[in-house]
Amino acid sequence: MYCCGICSKQLSSNSSLDRHMLVHSGERPFRCHICGTHFTTNGNMHRHIRGHYRNGGGGGTGGGSPTSDTGDSDIGSDEGPHLTLQEAPR
Ligand SMILES: [Zn+2]
Ligand SMILES: [Zn+2]
Repeated sequence: MYCCGICSKQLSSNSSLDRHMLVHSGERPFRCHICGTHFTTNGNMHRHIRGHYRNGGGGGTGGGSPTSDTGDSDIGSDEGPHLTLQEAPR
């Protein structure tokens, strides 16, 4: 087991942990060339892009509004253990 040093999430492999760390760094290196949505993983991006082609089907209606894909079990939601420290005004 690999354990994230930031949120203590447990990953099954070193590569999973590596990918998970992107959540904390905020990096989303993969970008959809159609709508510009960013993704943390290559797989997520390709799945998303496939949705573009499936929706359009070459018809050209252009009515599809792709929802951001948040079904990644490793990454989870963006609402991680972010601590927002607010300085109390004195
Ligand atoms: Zn983490
Ligand atoms: Zn897209």
